[in-house]
Amino acid sequence: MPDDASRVASDPALRRALLRWYDGHRRALPWRGQRDPYRVWLSEVMLQQTRVATATPYYHAFLERFPTLESLARAREADVLTAWAGLGYYRRARQLREAARLVVREHGGRVPDEPAAFALLPGVGRYTAGAVLSIAFDRPLPVLDGNVARVLSRLRALRATLREPRGARALWALAATLVPARRPGDWNQALMELGATVCTPRAPRCGGCPASRWCSAFALGRVAAFPPVTARRAVEKVRQAVVLIERRGRMLVVRREGPLLAGLWEPPGVELAPRRSARRALDTLLAGLGLRARIAPAGTSIRYAITHRDITAEVWHGVLAAPPPRPARLRWVDPRDPAVALTALAKKVAALRAGA
Ligand code: SF4
Repeated sequence: MPDDASRVASDPALRRALLRWYDGHRRALPWRGQRDPYRVWLSEVMLQQTRVATATPYYHAFLERFPTLESLARAREADVLTAWAGLGYYRRARQLREAARLVVREHGGRVPDEPAAFALLPGVGRYTAGAVLSIAFDRPLPVLDGNVARVLSRLRALRATLREPRGARALWALAATLVPARRPGDWNQALMELGATVCTPRAPRCGGCPASRWCSAFALGRVAAFPPVTARRAVEKVRQAVVLIERRGRMLVVRREGPLLAGLWEPPGVELAPRRSARRALDTLLAGLGLRARIAPAGTSIRYAITHRDITAEVWHGVLAAPPPRPARLRWVDPRDPAVALTALAKKVAALRAGA
């Protein structure tokens, strides 16, 4: 087994071994082999915060709806959000559409292959720039996501994680020194694939790993020590109350605002401070929306999660005492209508309706 010095010096051999393994073992994913920058970009955006199995059907459906960057640039935001509904992190969809519009307006519809120009587009961070430009344009730029960070930390026995700035800087620097001039996109994907399928967080399969000859953590017999464990962000328990108001098969929904779910629709709901009465909070909310309604607990609750928040929503039924006003934020919708972008909570509430 090479010593530490030869391990560092043997990057070309490591690259050859990993690329050979990638050629023979990569999973057949729908975006693999793609050089169309729009498709590569879409897949990279979808795969941020979303697992491959979840993203795959959305990727196909989204491309059917918006097959080109121009079609995405022309689309209404509501239609893009509808195609994204269920994937979460809707800011990604809004920014991708915004970026497509800028590419059409300022770059003649061609995705810029200059890192400085591409990085100026909405939602494009260092990871997305590295992934899209290396895969679609052979630009030798590194990528660093959770999988790659774990692989690099182990390869070099580097006590660094993406969770703290110094570690992130060290890992980006290492990723940049390793990325080759030839096949940089395949190299980046090989690192991601290794992290996803072999060098997994728990029980990495070092025996079958194409990089084991160059892996410092493996040589030291200390794979479990890398990357170092850091404190996870604590899960926050949240109480919420939501009211289901129906009329002739339709459900009253309100347009969400805020950074995560803006533009999506869901039944009126409110977050409850500790010991705050759900009835009082809902009465105040409904009055604020100009609604007069009698409400009663439905006797059930819905549990769901958004990022680090574990949310339990008490469901209430409401009957309007007067027709609702017509502010832009309120709407009657058929929850089965695929053109309506509902939140995950709204879909769960809709499933509770009689006959749903
Ligand atoms: S030898 Fe083990 S720890 Fe090292 S890169 Fe391969 S799977 Fe990861």
